[in-house]
Amino acid sequence: MAAKVIDGKAFAAKLREQVAGHVARLKADHGIVPGLAVVLVGEDPASQVYVRSKGKQTVEAGMASFEHKLEDSVSEAELLAVVEKLNADPEVHGILVQLPLPGHINSDLVINAIDPAKDVDGFHISNVGLLGTGQKSMVPCTPLGCLMMLREAHGSLSGMNAVVVGRSNIVGKPMAQLLLGDSCTVTIAHSRTKDLAEVCRGADILVAAVGRPQMIPGDWVKPGATVIDVGINRIDAPERGEGKTRLVGDVDYASCAEVAGAITPVPGGVGPMTIACLLSNTLVATCRANGIAEPE
Ligand code: NDP
Repeated sequence: MAAKVIDGKAFAAKLREQVAGHVARLKADHGIVPGLAVVLVGEDPASQVYVRSKGKQTVEAGMASFEHKLEDSVSEAELLAVVEKLNADPEVHGILVQLPLPGHINSDLVINAIDPAKDVDGFHISNVGLLGTGQKSMVPCTPLGCLMMLREAHGSLSGMNAVVVGRSNIVGKPMAQLLLGDSCTVTIAHSRTKDLAEVCRGADILVAAVGRPQMIPGDWVKPGATVIDVGINRIDAPERGEGKTRLVGDVDYASCAEVAGAITPVPGGVGPMTIACLLSNTLVATCRANGIAEPE
């Protein structure tokens, strides 16, 4: 039987609508407008697309959007000064520094200069520590979106075997922490994992966050498993015409969808949930900053 397709686009639209409702009430009841500041350094085309999309959706949710575009040649000190200014700005409740940063800038230093209460990406070392110890934190947007879809699909995740392929700080590791927090038995796999196919076959929940197009085939998937494909890879698509490309995930969708119980498509799965979670985190940061009960 073909897998159920988990519609991240529809889920994200619903989440954005809920956020917009809360934002409207914050404005009406408290006169507060959540503000999200995005800092973009350089001309990376993919980053520019993400930042444009984030700005548009922030405004659509009724929030204030502040964009800071800096030259590729900006110094670390200048970038840190921008972050400091945003930390002190009461109209800014969330700060996101778009990664990757140019090589001459120490990303860790910049991320850790963000006020943890405004760190809506959840990458600040304090938020990483809070998440790891099961305390209230800002949770990274992409894994948070994956968790929401998994909870929606399964209700309780308790006792399920989860395999996360990828151990990056922005996806793999926080994803594993969240699954552990929901009482899964978690395995983190990476480029040195022995017999990755067999490890994947043990997964009730398989999360692929590798960055390798269509790397995971259907025969690595346990029948009935839920597959969450985080990967966004652009590949040539000559079948669409000369020079055309298309987006694919880290799993081979066609063969995995034949075996899995449920699967996220690319595009239209994890991607849209990431920005919706960013808006949700900005709302949460605004509520916490003003001592207002945050939405469930
Ligand atoms: P990174 O490159 O930071 O990490 C990739 C991970 O995959 C590493 O841990 C690496 O292992 C592991 N890996 C690489 N090759 C293999 C292999 N052959 N077998 C097993 N593991 C392997 O990537 P990110 O975590 O930042 O992103 C992963 C993917 O998710 C990318 O496609 C990215 O575009 C996408 N992404 C999507 C988002 C969304 O909103 N949907 C947001 C963020 C990312 P090792 O550590 O050993 O090198």
